[in-house]
Amino acid sequence: MIKFKEAQKIILKNVRQLSLEKINISFVLGRILGENIYSNINIPPFSKSAMDGFAIRYKDIVDLNGKNCVSLKIIADLPAGKTFKRELKIGEAVRIMTGAPVPSGADIVVPIEDVQVDGFYVRILKTYKQGTNIAPIGEDVQKGELVMEKGSLLGPAHIGMFAALGKKEVKLYKKPYVAILPTGSELVDISKSLTKGKIRDSNSYSLNAQVTEAGAAPVKFPICRDVEEKLTREVQKGLKYDVLIVSGGISVGDYDFVKRVFEKLKIKEIFWKVAIKPGMPVFFGKFKDKLVFGLPGNPVSVMVTYELFIRPALLLMMGRKDCFREEVSAVAKCEIKHKRGRLDFIRGNLNWQDGEYFVSPTGFQGSGVLKSMVQANSLIVIPENLDLIPAGTKVKVLKLK
Ligand code: AMP
Ligand code: MG
Repeated sequence: MIKFKEAQKIILKNVRQLSLEKINISFVLGRILGENIYSNINIPPFSKSAMDGFAIRYKDIVDLNGKNCVSLKIIADLPAGKTFKRELKIGEAVRIMTGAPVPSGADIVVPIEDVQVDGFYVRILKTYKQGTNIAPIGEDVQKGELVMEKGSLLGPAHIGMFAALGKKEVKLYKKPYVAILPTGSELVDISKSLTKGKIRDSNSYSLNAQVTEAGAAPVKFPICRDVEEKLTREVQKGLKYDVLIVSGGISVGDYDFVKRVFEKLKIKEIFWKVAIKPGMPVFFGKFKDKLVFGLPGNPVSVMVTYELFIRPALLLMMGRKDCFREEVSAVAKCEIKHKRGRLDFIRGNLNWQDGEYFVSPTGFQGSGVLKSMVQANSLIVIPENLDLIPAGTKVKVLKLK
């Protein structure tokens, strides 16, 4: 059985970045940028007024000491979107609105609230520093500047910036299509009623959401019963996608056919079983350039093994540089029990208090207890060689949100 870190390393070594596609910027939220973005313009493209007021020359008011005032002739009105054609001369002022280009020769905008207007004249009562209330050309972005790096996760601000730069489309890494195949003769979908001995399939729903959260494209398959021929057909269909996740049937029970089907279909086993809890019998293999994961069917095992192994792989396929969850150190709020032997990922509730992280397990930790995941925002990582963590001990925690 291999160790956790080794398994994670092996998966990432086997991941290829997907190719690029051009997408309209209205549809790129949450995607990963596949190119460096340079600006071919200055933003703003001209020096612009940051206030409604009067554009004036510093030279005309330099001698004001607070006692005198200067009257300047108002020679034009300049709303945003219009330009003033000539240079401002001695004794002149232009009434200017926020966003309008500052006339050449002017180097201060005096706010409207600070002046007295008297017919065609404006009275300036005090002096200002040169550049006051003027956003200089290129204040936000300089022509030629590298604005965003390849591999950036795109949020609303990035999208606004693309528009400001005049970019209608950008290059992104393609999304991996991820087939999700729930297996188990005991499973029924939510659309059907529960009969004796049956349980609802929750795994394909939580996996569907997890894959969506990563920004990849889930393709949910219907429930497959534990019948070898049926399973073979469904796995074959699943191999058409970039990634196949099979839930359930990967252990050694009499009806666990998944591994046998993988072998029959020439899916190359890269590892089976990792020294972790929950999720020990997790399988990773390859079929040509497709990634294949077999996850033990317990709802918590599915979600945790997805987090540890599949999410980083999907993010890397989409070009993301930081593909791991943030790891923090936290104080255990209570004693944590653990059986020696396997690296344990205990579902935790992490919170920040007085400058420190604190964490406590979310109730009973069985690998079938999905509620422990519902209440969790993190995974507490307990090393294999410990058997009891006293309250107050510092522990390693992976943030899930
Ligand atoms: P298996 O890995 O197939 O042995 O399943 C382990 C446990 O997880 C069993 O109790 C199953 O009933 C349960 N299980 C398997 N698949 C699902 C699923 N899709 N949704 C909820 N529970 C499941
Ligand atoms: Mg099963």
